[in-house]
Amino acid sequence: YQAKRQKLSVCVFEPWMGRVVAEQLNIAKRLASAIAEKQLSLHFQPQVDLESGQLIGAEALCRWHDKELGDVSPGKFIPIAEERGMIVALGNWVIEEACRQLAEWRDQGHFMAGQLAINIAAQQFEEEDLVESLLNSCSCFGIEPSQLSLEITESGIMDNPEKAIAMTEVLKGKGLGLSIDDFGTGYSSLAYLKRFAADKIKIDISFVRDMLTSDNDRVIVATIIAMANTLGLETIAEGIEQQDQITALLAMGCTQGQGYYFDRPLGAEQFVQRWL
Ligand code: C2E
Ligand code: MG
Ligand code: MG
Ligand code: MG
Repeated sequence: YQAKRQKLSVCVFEPWMGRVVAEQLNIAKRLASAIAEKQLSLHFQPQVDLESGQLIGAEALCRWHDKELGDVSPGKFIPIAEERGMIVALGNWVIEEACRQLAEWRDQGHFMAGQLAINIAAQQFEEEDLVESLLNSCSCFGIEPSQLSLEITESGIMDNPEKAIAMTEVLKGKGLGLSIDDFGTGYSSLAYLKRFAADKIKIDISFVRDMLTSDNDRVIVATIIAMANTLGLETIAEGIEQQDQITALLAMGCTQGQGYYFDRPLGAEQFVQRWL
């Protein structure tokens, strides 16, 4: 005991630390009830063919408006959901709602080209139940699994690469699409990448944002595209805000994009009006 005690480091507790913890707890509590009461919503951002500007799919992005906290960004509440064991429940709601929305559009006579992409957190990807949740929601709303595509981050895959590889095989067998999100920000090994049954790489927003001003970022983007082409993977650039980025991306061989230049993530009705 004495030996253990000497190894303990001094921990300074400042008042602001207490406030941060209290704020997080409050957000977590409210988020838990928002999930249970289905108070989240989905927005949809178009994905386009860079040459023609035609719609090739959309990404579903989770939104939360809380009475007390106002709009909370997913950049804030998704990590909290991950840390506090709520991400699987949240993710299952997203899957169900995405399928419900596709069915509603179909029933209204709107055709959505391509696939609807859903973000899947690493913890969801490690759950055996993921496949069942996806297939259940699909059959419940009469949606083909091939109408969906899953986005998992590069770092999410590297959490447990062997398990991720096995999961992708199963999902691919069921016809779902699979993209590696935020590519370039993690540390994936090319050996894993080759075994991972993805069909698309999403070039991270940070490289796309700086590719016109930074030689490094331009070279990284070009290298990712060349590597993807070699491995037979499609590429899509996230965060396109200017025409010049499109010109540069096309010259490098990337033909798909997403970003404010085309449209922001939109509520379902606005998405239908503008894109379907
Ligand atoms: P992500 O999947 O990489 O999504 C792209 C983010 O970039 C979205 O932020 C989108 O609104 C934003 N974006 C799109 N185009 C542009 C642009 O031209 N410029 C700029 N500056 N930003 C652009 P959002 O909606 O705030 O989501 C942030 C992250 O939260 C997502 O990153 C994703 O990792 C996570 N997320 C969102 N919804 C879900 C969900 O349903 N499940 C899970 N697990 N994660 C989600
Ligand atoms: Mg994404
Ligand atoms: Mg991304
Ligand atoms: Mg991101």
